Amino acid sequence: MRKISIFGATGSIGQNTIDLIRRAPGDYDTVALTGGGNIARLAADAIELRADVAVTAFPNRLDDLRAALAGSDVEAAAGPEALLEAAARPADWVMSAIIGAAGLAPGLKALEQGATLALANKESLVCAGQLLLNTARQHNARILPVDSEHSAVFQGMVGEKIDEVERIIITASGGAFRDWPLEDLPKASLAQASSHPNWDMGQRITIDSASMFNKALEVIETREFFGVSPSQIEVLVHPESLVHALVGFRDGALMAHVGAPDMRHAIGYALHWPERRDLPVARLDLALAGQLNFRAPEQARYPALRLAWQVMERGGMMGAVFNAAKERALDHFIAGQCRFTDMADTVAAVLEHMEAQSSLIDAAMTLDNVSQVDHLARKGADDVLKQRAG
Ligand code: NAD
Ligand code: MG
Repeated sequence: MRKISIFGATGSIGQNTIDLIRRAPGDYDTVALTGGGNIARLAADAIELRADVAVTAFPNRLDDLRAALAGSDVEAAAGPEALLEAAARPADWVMSAIIGAAGLAPGLKALEQGATLALANKESLVCAGQLLLNTARQHNARILPVDSEHSAVFQGMVGEKIDEVERIIITASGGAFRDWPLEDLPKASLAQASSHPNWDMGQRITIDSASMFNKALEVIETREFFGVSPSQIEVLVHPESLVHALVGFRDGALMAHVGAPDMRHAIGYALHWPERRDLPVARLDLALAGQLNFRAPEQARYPALRLAWQVMERGGMMGAVFNAAKERALDHFIAGQCRFTDMADTVAAVLEHMEAQSSLIDAAMTLDNVSQVDHLARKGADDVLKQRAG
C-alpha cells in the first residue's frame, strides 16, 4: 500500500484527488488530509479514508474538527505548525493542492522527508522555484506537475531530451471575458469573473483565468519546472480547452497533448507515474468536437501576461513579489474593493516599486527571505489600492 497525504484536500483539486483514491481504497494508506474552513468535508473524508490525522489551517476551528472526528481514530490538529508537522510525516506521495503561497512551506517539508510531491500549487514554483527544486534534489525527492498544461508538457517530453526542445506552448481558454468588448472589462462583476467557460475549478483560479494571471503564473511555472528560457515559452488562446500544451522540437515537430478538460487526468497521471492506469475521464470524440481554434492572446485584454515576462527577465525573487501582489489584488477584488482591471494595474505598480530593491530581490532564496518579500509585496499592493481608492 502506498502512503499518501493530500494538502488542500477540501478544495477542487483535493476533491478530484480523493475521487481517484476512493476508487481503489485498497491501494492507499492515507496519512494526512488538510483543509481550511470546511470542517464537515474534511472530517468526513478523513474518516472515510481512515487518515492518521486531519488538519485544518485555522487554529480557531480545532474544537469543531475534534467534534466532527469524535468516535473515530483520526487525530485532529490545527494551524500552520500542524500543517508542517503533518507534511513531515513519512508518505510516498503527497498532493500539494493548497491555494496560494501558503502551499510553499508544507511542500518543502514533504520534499525534505523524501516524498514524491504532486504539485498543483503552482504558486510555490513561482515564489521559490529554485528553493523547491534544490530541496527536491538534496533529498532525492521528485516533483511531478499536476497543472494540466505542465502535465501535458511533461507527458510530451517522455523519451525526449530537454536540449532538443525549441519551444513550449501552453494554451489558455481565454477565460470568462475572452469575447467581451475591452471597454466593459472595468465593469466586470465578481459573479461574472467567477464562471469559467470550460473548467470547473476553485473560485480564485477561475478569476485568475479571466484575468490571465493564472496563465502568467503558469508561464513562470514552465520556466522554473522545465528550465527553458523565457523566449522559448508561448501562450496560445484555445477556446475549446482540448489541447492542453504543445512541445516544439528542433526538427520542427510539435507534440500536442489532447484530452477532455478534467483535472483527474493530470492528477491520475501524477498518481500512477511512470505507469498509466485506467482513469474515469471522458474519452474525446474529435469528430463531435469538430473544430479546434487557436489565436494569439490580445495584449490589451490580458496585461498580466506581459508582467510574467517582466518577472522572468528581472529574476531573483520577483516571482514572489508578483504572486503576493496578485493574491492581495485578488483579495480586494473578491471583497468588492477594487475593479477587475485594477488587479493588473496594482501588480504592475508593485513590481515597478520593488524591481530596483536589489538587496531584497537578489538575496538568497530561503523560506524566510521569500516570506519577507511576500509580506512586503502584499503591503505594497494594499498601499497602491488604498491610493487608487482615495
Ligand atoms: P480551492 O480554493 O478549491 O482549494 C484550496 C484548498 O486549500 C482548500 O482545501 C483550502 O481549505 C486550502 N487552503 C486555503 N487557504 C489555505 C491556507 N492559508 N493554508 C492552508 N490551506 C489553505 O483551490 P483549487 O482550485 O483546488 O486549487 C488548488 C491549487 O491547485 C492552486 O495552487 C491552483 O492554482 C492549482 N490548480 C488548480 C486547478 C483546478 O482545477 N482547480 C487546476 C490547476 C492548478
Ligand atoms: Mg493550468
